[in-house]
Amino acid sequence: MSQPPNSPSKSHGRLSIGASLQPRDLMADRPDLHGVWTAKVVTLFPQVFPGVLGASLTGRALDQGLWRLDPIDLRLFGEGRHRNVDDTPAGGGPGMVLRADVMGAALDHTMRGRPDDRARWPLIYLSPRGRPFDQAMARRLSRTEGVTLICGRFEGLDQRVIDHYGIEEVSLGDFVLTGGEIAAQAVLDATVRLRPNILGNEASTEEESFSAGLLEHPHYTRPATWRGHDIPPVLLSGHHGEIAKWRQAQAEAITRARRPDLWAAYDRSRDED
Ligand code: SAH
Repeated sequence: MSQPPNSPSKSHGRLSIGASLQPRDLMADRPDLHGVWTAKVVTLFPQVFPGVLGASLTGRALDQGLWRLDPIDLRLFGEGRHRNVDDTPAGGGPGMVLRADVMGAALDHTMRGRPDDRARWPLIYLSPRGRPFDQAMARRLSRTEGVTLICGRFEGLDQRVIDHYGIEEVSLGDFVLTGGEIAAQAVLDATVRLRPNILGNEASTEEESFSAGLLEHPHYTRPATWRGHDIPPVLLSGHHGEIAKWRQAQAEAITRARRPDLWAAYDRSRDED
C-alpha cells in the first residue's frame, strides 16, 4: 500500500487537502512552484510544521516561494482501521518501534519522482545515533535540490528501513528528544538560510560562527556606554584594518577557550595553508 486513499495527491494544491492534513490549510496560500528547493518531512505530527520555520526570514522566504515545505503525515500510511504505525520491540523491552512496512510505504510515496541520486536529494533520519549535524552539513544540504527528513517517535525506527533505503542518520547532539520534529526544524533552519536570497545580507553567512572554522567575535551596538560598560574603543575608531584584526583575535581567543576541538582543527588547517 503505497498510496492510501486519503493521502495527498502529487500536486499539493488546495483540492488535495484532506481533513487529516489540516496544517496544509495554513500553508495553502504559499506558492506551489516547481524546481524550488523542497523539504519533505515524514512525521506523525505534520501540524507542528512549518512551526518556527514560518517566522522571520525562513517564513518570508516560504511565503515568497523561495523554498517549499511538504510535511507527509505518517499516520496516513498506517495499518488497519486505526492506522497503526508502531508495534512492540522484537526481543522485548519498553516502548514501541515504528514499523518498517508503514515507513516503507510512506517513503515510497514521498520519494516518488525525486532523484535517486542521494547527493542530489539526501534521505535523512533524525536520530541521536546519527552523525552530529554541523555547518558543513547544512552547507551540503543547501546545495542539493531538496531533502527528505524522517522524524522518529517512540523508541525509533525499525532498522530494516534504515538499511533498505540506505538512509543517512543525523543527530542534533548528544541528548534525546521525544521526536525528530524539533531536530528537523533546526536542520531546515540552518540549511534554508544558506540558500540564495533568503537572508537580507548574504555576506553575513560568510563571516559568522563556524564558516571560517572559528566561533564568532562578540557584537556591540548603541548606546556607546551602558551601565558603565563601554564598547571596545577600537570598534569606534573607524580603522577597518584594526577592527578586522581585533575581531580575528577575539574569535581565536574565544574558540581556543571554549572549543578545543574546533581550535585544533583550525590550527591544523592554518598550518596547511
Ligand atoms: N531509543 C532511541 C531514542 C528515541 S527518541 C535511542 O536511544 O537512540 C525518539 C525520536 O526522536 C528518534 O527516533 C529521533 O527521530 C528523535 N530524536 C531524539 N533525539 C534526537 C537527537 N539528538 N537528534 C535527532 N533526532 C533525535
